[in-house]
Amino acid sequence: MAEKLRFQGKVTSARITKTAQWWFVSIQVEIPDEVPVRKLAAVGIDVGLNRLATLSTGEGVENQAFLKTALSKLRRANKRLHRRKSGSKNREKARRQVARLHYRITCSRDDLLHKLTTQLANCYQIIGIEDLNLKGLLKNRKLARSFSDAALGKLLSLLTSKVEQRGGQVQKVERFFPSSKTCHCCGWKWKDMELSERVFLCRNPDCAYYQFAQDRDHNAALCILHEALRLIGLIDQAVAGTGSDEDVNLAVDAG
Ligand SMILES: [Zn+2]
Repeated sequence: MAEKLRFQGKVTSARITKTAQWWFVSIQVEIPDEVPVRKLAAVGIDVGLNRLATLSTGEGVENQAFLKTALSKLRRANKRLHRRKSGSKNREKARRQVARLHYRITCSRDDLLHKLTTQLANCYQIIGIEDLNLKGLLKNRKLARSFSDAALGKLLSLLTSKVEQRGGQVQKVERFFPSSKTCHCCGWKWKDMELSERVFLCRNPDCAYYQFAQDRDHNAALCILHEALRLIGLIDQAVAGTGSDEDVNLAVDAG
């Protein structure tokens, strides 16, 4: 191999594979345990379609712009594939192109998810995150949504394994918990909040955030953090209560 190895250590094995017309060699290297990074306490994560992830610290991780272009390319390639006569050489060519595009999208997405989950697992001891919306998953047939849902599933599994490996804890919060409709500070609920509303305005005059424009996803991430800490038993009271995000989810599915 001409390329230099990224990791210093003892090479124990190599495996050759082929995926979507690309050849790969995976080299197993034995390296000493990583030095643990200093951990911050806890974080809440809101996962969404607009922004891949919003943290309770206010940081956001955008969905990559490439995904949009890649998806439209994939749509066109799929159409081309169905126009070709079955059994023909051109059909085989089109089929290979679709496979390559699928693979490309998955690779770029996985790269982003791996970087994000490693960073989170290294920095935080406790991570609160929304559980998957299984009902929404089954209903969903749109290409863009199916990729984003697959990303969500992958995010959860990567995060859980990496955090546990480092001795941390992932606390899942049920999907019916109304994280985006609740003020993280006082627990006031904006019952008829629209999905298109990007800003949360608390209307409780006694709240420190009264009429203060909060980013919708950031407020949700803070609610998820509080709820996770409450579920673990680290705080007695949180913004949790009755009410539901269910109608919000339904609105997403309908759209
Ligand atoms: Zn409030």
